[in-house]
Amino acid sequence: MFFNRELFLSETEKMNLAVPDGAADRFEAYARVLTEKNKVMNLTAVTDADGIAVKHFADSVSILTLGIPQGAKIADIGTGAGFPGIPLLIMRPDLKLTFIDSTAKKIDFINSVLNELGLEAETYAGRAEALARERNFRESFDYAVSRAVASLNVLSELCLPFVKRGGAFISMKGAKAEEELADSGNAFAILGAMLEGIADISLSDGFERKLIAIRKTGETDKKYPRQYGQILKRPL
Ligand code: SAH
Repeated sequence: MFFNRELFLSETEKMNLAVPDGAADRFEAYARVLTEKNKVMNLTAVTDADGIAVKHFADSVSILTLGIPQGAKIADIGTGAGFPGIPLLIMRPDLKLTFIDSTAKKIDFINSVLNELGLEAETYAGRAEALARERNFRESFDYAVSRAVASLNVLSELCLPFVKRGGAFISMKGAKAEEELADSGNAFAILGAMLEGIADISLSDGFERKLIAIRKTGETDKKYPRQYGQILKRPL
């Protein structure tokens, strides 16, 4: 057993999320390939069966408590080993996921996971700030989601250009959520968005987790996102 199935099922039950038939087997297969690949490639520091169940899988699927509509088009920006995107797709194969990461080896891993699990999604190795300027990506997603990639003001510039008007960027944050939010109001306004709400997520490991929903209410000016160096040097 590479992940603690009972623990995952109890977490999803507390969140009122339905786990479809076959999903637990897919999570097990994902945990197995993640654990195996992690021996030869740095994918995750969390490798124990309880940790994978809670800190990776339950944490990732917590986004579904926000009520994501059938068939929604979602970009997972800086997906790494596939979080939150792969668990979202296992729970909801109706979703149209696009996995983006700047490291080609991470995207190779995502492709092998999708293949192993028999799931379909689009994958791109590239930098978010470059892809966001391409026509087929720009303002074309219902949601952008991201976990553990950058601080919220920086991440907003990377993610909001992907989101269409009326859609949302969902940022997964921990204890620093409020602090990062306080520094991001300007970025939301400049990028054509506004804070919609913050949801507290409580999992059995006791760590603080927040989902920050930022609604795209307008259009993002063509000059964003800037080059990464500029984004870091002069955050909005
Ligand atoms: N979301 C995953 C991985 C977080 S690590 C998780 O929560 O476990 C951050 C990942 O973001 C790395 O895989 C890194 O390659 C990717 N990344 C960092 N900056 C990026 C950028 N500008 N565009 C695309 N991917 C980026």
